[in-house]
Amino acid sequence: MATITLRPGRERPVIQRHPWVFSGAIDSVRGDPVDGEPVDVLAPSGDWLARGLWSGSSQIRARLCTWDPNQHLDDEWLRDGIARAVSGRAGLADGEGGACRLVFSESDGLPGLIVDRYGDYLTVQIVTQGMEARRGALIRALADLLAPRGIYERSDADMREKEGLPPAEGLIWGEEPPAQIVVRPAAAPGSPVPPPHLIADLRAGQKTGTYLDQSINRARVAAYCRGADVLDCFCYSGGFSAYAARAGATGLTLIDSSLAALDMARQNLDLNEIATPADYVEGNVFKVLRAYRAEGRRFDVIVLDPPKFAQSQGQVNHATRGYKDINWLAMQLLRPGGTLATFSCSGLISPDLFQKVVFGASVDAKRDVQIIERLGQSPDHPILLTFPESEYLKGFVCRVW
Ligand code: SAH
Repeated sequence: MATITLRPGRERPVIQRHPWVFSGAIDSVRGDPVDGEPVDVLAPSGDWLARGLWSGSSQIRARLCTWDPNQHLDDEWLRDGIARAVSGRAGLADGEGGACRLVFSESDGLPGLIVDRYGDYLTVQIVTQGMEARRGALIRALADLLAPRGIYERSDADMREKEGLPPAEGLIWGEEPPAQIVVRPAAAPGSPVPPPHLIADLRAGQKTGTYLDQSINRARVAAYCRGADVLDCFCYSGGFSAYAARAGATGLTLIDSSLAALDMARQNLDLNEIATPADYVEGNVFKVLRAYRAEGRRFDVIVLDPPKFAQSQGQVNHATRGYKDINWLAMQLLRPGGTLATFSCSGLISPDLFQKVVFGASVDAKRDVQIIERLGQSPDHPILLTFPESEYLKGFVCRVW
């Protein structure tokens, strides 16, 4: 097997089981590994540290998969890893139409593999050389372990490009999923309101069909929506609104820049037989909130769930200005004692930094703002302690006086 020897001083993260070996940490490579092949990682002293999968043209040259020298990265390892990840989701979304993330890449010890269950279908993302090289074995393992009707690939093209892989999308096993399927995302433990059904478009929808990482948070936010006039900003397919209406919201305003998203939101409210009056607003949240402020409109609950504003370190400053702006506007639109549910899914913005941004917005809005709940990604997107990068979604439920 090929080996990587680390530079002096660069072994600490590997010993602490961080799964990435960057090109800059490598002193020498012996054995000319082929992309996707196992490589052993050695300390400068020659001591064996870990085993990973090689990716020669990525900045992340190896993704570490085991710290046990006796563990081989063979088909059985892959199958066992998938089985373990699936067992960790037991009871989350098992029933008919259940939807949840079954495998979350590094967090589940399977770098570069994401598997989502949408009822009888699976969507997969294969975004590293290591997983690409095991494509056949992993499709077999998924088919055997989960017996889906079909497996549809929705691999993120940008991530594949960084790994030197061409885009990949389409049916890879079994039956083609229909254009829309009705699913029920994971339920919040103990929530008195059952989760709504949601339409997912596995072939053309955002993400791999819908935003599963917000499943639990929708229930948490719904708990503040009884009798409330709710503004759902960046609504996509209306998951927050559907939940809020089930929990007793009396009015809904949904904003998204995408007409297709608003159309899905409307279908989702209809599907759940929601009769709450709903306004669908196509527009840019930054502008619409300013217009509402000028009109003197007020709400009881506002949800801010924007897309990832910071895609790279260079965008963090600009992104924080964007987050501050929408939070500042939303605070001004809330009635005293109203609820702001505010999220950031930019991994590069830490929970600490996000809190500072919301703090800045509160000072400028001249409102007293209390955090009453801290939220994160749903439990099917676990955060691996040795891989803090796996924490990306954070949110606060705030009371705004
Ligand atoms: N809240 C949603 C997920 C939001 S994803 C849910 O629970 O499922 C982010 C959404 O923001 C996308 O639907 C995208 O179309 C929309 N969007 C992006 N930029 C926007 C902008 N400036 N104004 C309004 N919508 C925007």
